[in-house]
Amino acid sequence: MGGTEERYIREAFEKNWIAPLGENVDKFEQALSEKLDGSGVAVVNAGTAAMHLALILLGVGSGDEVLVSDFTFIGTVNPILYQGAIPVFIDSSMKTWNMDPALLEEAITDRMKKGKKPKAIVVVDIYGMPAEMDRIGGIAEKYGIPLVEDAAESLGSSFDGRPCGTFGAMGVLSFNGNKIITTSGGGALVSRNHDVASRARFLASQAREEALHFEHSAVGYNYRMSNILAGIGRGQMEVLDQRVAAHRANNEYYRNALGDISGLVFQTGPDGRYFSNYWLTTILFTAPGSEDAARTVCAALGKEKIDSRPVMKPMHQQSFLAHWPAYLNGVADTLFAQGLCLPSGSMLKESDLERITGIVRKAILRK
Ligand SMILES: *Cc1c(COP(=O)(O)O)cnc(C)c1O
Repeated sequence: MGGTEERYIREAFEKNWIAPLGENVDKFEQALSEKLDGSGVAVVNAGTAAMHLALILLGVGSGDEVLVSDFTFIGTVNPILYQGAIPVFIDSSMKTWNMDPALLEEAITDRMKKGKKPKAIVVVDIYGMPAEMDRIGGIAEKYGIPLVEDAAESLGSSFDGRPCGTFGAMGVLSFNGNKIITTSGGGALVSRNHDVASRARFLASQAREEALHFEHSAVGYNYRMSNILAGIGRGQMEVLDQRVAAHRANNEYYRNALGDISGLVFQTGPDGRYFSNYWLTTILFTAPGSEDAARTVCAALGKEKIDSRPVMKPMHQQSFLAHWPAYLNGVADTLFAQGLCLPSGSMLKESDLERITGIVRKAILRK
C-alpha cells in the first residue's frame, strides 16, 4: 500500500457511503482516465469481469470465434467460454513473448477460408510487455475485426508513447492482489469511446435504467466495483509511477547481475518503442542442455523460501481447452518449459536482489 488508501476508505465510512457507487469510484475512474490519454473507464470487480463485458459489448455470442493469445492467464480466456464462443489460440513470437502477428494473419485467412470470419481478437501484454501493437492493430484493421487489449498486467506500460490499455476498441485492466497496483480484487474496462465505457457501467449495474423503481432493459451483471475498494484504488494511483519505477529497477538489477550468463535471456522489447512496466522480470534458459534449468533454479530458490514460478502454461496445454483450434509455432511451449518468473515485488531491497541473484547464479553454474 502507498499510504493514503486508508484515508479514502475512512472517508467512505464517515460519509456512510459503503454502497456500490460513490465518490471513490468516480475519482478512481478519473485518475485512471488521466493515465490513459483521457479514455473512458468503467471500474468493475475483476479483470475477468471487464473482459466478459468487452466481449458482450462486441456482440460475441454462441459459436463465434475469438482469436486470443495462447500464452496468457486463464482470465483472458474464460469469458470467451462464458459467452459460448470458440477460443482460437494464437502462439507467441520470441520478439515480445506476445501474440505473433504473422501467425495471427495466417489464422484469420485460414478461419475465413473455413467459412467463418473471427468476431474479435484479444491480444495480451504479458508480464507488462506491450505486444507488437503496430502490426497487430494493422492486421485487425485490414480485416475489420475488433481488437481487445488485455492490459491486466501492463498498466503503466506503453508502446510508441501510447499507454497500454488504450489500443483497440477496448482494453482490460486488473487490480487483483498480485498486479502492479491492487484494490485487493478489481478490474476496469477502458475505451477511447466514452459511450462504450458508459455502456459497460450500465451492464455492470444489472442494466438498471434511471427510474425510481427497478427498471431493466437488458441482461445485466453485478460487476461494479465497491466504493470501499475504489478507495484503495485511488490511493494506489498516487503511487503507480513509483511502482513502475521500482519494478523497472528490479529488472535493471537482474540484467546487470545475471546478464553475463550464457544462454540466459530476458523478456525484452525489440526496440525503444516498447516501454514495459516489468511487472514481472522473466527469463529464459536457452543454452543447449539447460532444458530443466528453470525448474532447477525455481527449486533452489524455493529451498531458501524465495518464491519464483514457471512462466504461463499455454492455453492449448490446459486439458479442458486442448480441443479448441490453435495456431502454434512452438514458442509458448518453449517459454513454458524453459522460462522463469523471478521475484519482482516493489518492496524488494538491494540485499534481497543480491541474495536472489546469488542463488540463481550458483544453481545454474552447478549444473
Ligand atoms: C490477472 C489477469 C486477468 C484477470 O484479472 P482478474 O482481476 O484476476 O480477474 C486477465 N488476464 C491477464 C493477462 C491477467 O494477468
